[in-house]
Amino acid sequence: MEIKTVGVLGAGTMGNGIAHVFAKSSYNVVLVDIEQTFLDRAMSTISKNLEREVAKGKLTAEERAAALKRITPVVGRAPLATCDFVVEAATEQFKIKSELFQELDRLCHAQVILASNTSSISITKLAAVTQRPQQVIGMHFFNPVPMMKLVEVIRGLATSQETFQTVFELAKKLDKTPVEVNDSPGFVSNRVLMPLLNEAMYAVMEGVATAEAVDEVFKLGMAHPMGPLTLADFIGLDVCLDIMHVLHEGLGDPKYRPCPLLIKMVDAGWLGRKTGRGFYKY
Ligand code: NAD
Repeated sequence: MEIKTVGVLGAGTMGNGIAHVFAKSSYNVVLVDIEQTFLDRAMSTISKNLEREVAKGKLTAEERAAALKRITPVVGRAPLATCDFVVEAATEQFKIKSELFQELDRLCHAQVILASNTSSISITKLAAVTQRPQQVIGMHFFNPVPMMKLVEVIRGLATSQETFQTVFELAKKLDKTPVEVNDSPGFVSNRVLMPLLNEAMYAVMEGVATAEAVDEVFKLGMAHPMGPLTLADFIGLDVCLDIMHVLHEGLGDPKYRPCPLLIKMVDAGWLGRKTGRGFYKY
């Protein structure tokens, strides 16, 4: 099936970036969320980010206008029935995603591939709630999507070679670099990254150093462009906590126990950049 129209489910941090890159690569995009305000915010972010690319000379004003026009923001999922490919980028909770996959399975044409941008949830488990497990796959973009080259392409146990090949090639068409990964909690990226961020939080909680000092150590000592606590704020502390839960439950090793300070901050609604407060104030 030729992919012309792509559905993006969830218009948050990742969904708006995913819609941006598909639209820029000439795909029509149906961008879905549960409230109009979330869609308005996403469209405003995409508009500003595309403008930035124009200012840098990476895109013409006409290309920006054409990309924006290709995105149709909608509340309600029925228009996803017209899509040739869907990427789900909703909240990182299995209950939400499994309900969405069941609905996508009912709505979309039998040939359509359903991808998830999940950071850690089992692709095999998501696939199993559908009647098309061979056409379910992980397509894990990185934040900020328009800038980051990597896409982890994750095979669930039942994912067919044809599905894998289609999505691997699709990532290249978006000017990304796909890397093949098998299904396992956190895949490669978050299995290695999240315990680092979690340990940095323990260091702050135990008074080993301030958040600023921990971040300086990683920027200056390890040449990380961003320290782990700045990065956690950027990702979203709720997303970090959800991923730590998946690692802890999925791998069963106490080394993945979420840092109590992370739990407390999420309880307080300090979710990082998106709420104006996390390890830093914005
Ligand atoms: P986010 O909280 O910014 O956005 C999630 C969006 O999904 C929200 O706008 C929410 O309203 C919407 N949503 C929730 N339930 C929905 C439903 N039933 N139908 C339609 N929309 C629904 O979260 P995010 O950071 O964009 O994360 C989205 C996904 O991407 C998660 O699976 C996350 O693990 C993954 N991810 C996040 C990052 C990151 O750096 N934030 C990086 C890679 C992958």
